Amino acid sequence: MSDRISCCVPFCRRTLRNDKGYSEWICQEHWRMTDKFPRRILARRKKRLKTDATYPAKKVDDLWQFLKKQAIERAAGI
Ligand SMILES: [Zn+2]
Repeated sequence: MSDRISCCVPFCRRTLRNDKGYSEWICQEHWRMTDKFPRRILARRKKRLKTDATYPAKKVDDLWQFLKKQAIERAAGI
């Protein structure tokens, strides 16, 4: 797989070699603009998702959408 995925933030030109088959990705620089606390929860939920088959993927997805919105808004200076 050599497809490249680009940052979710509009007009951001950073891309990542999508080895892991992500559907969406936020670059380091924009990721840093998001709050630390939800980021930490996201990391914990992702870990839980890997180990617990009954854990709803939506919980990870919802938080991802929240962080994505935050990154986009902050990048736009809202
Ligand atoms: Zn970016």
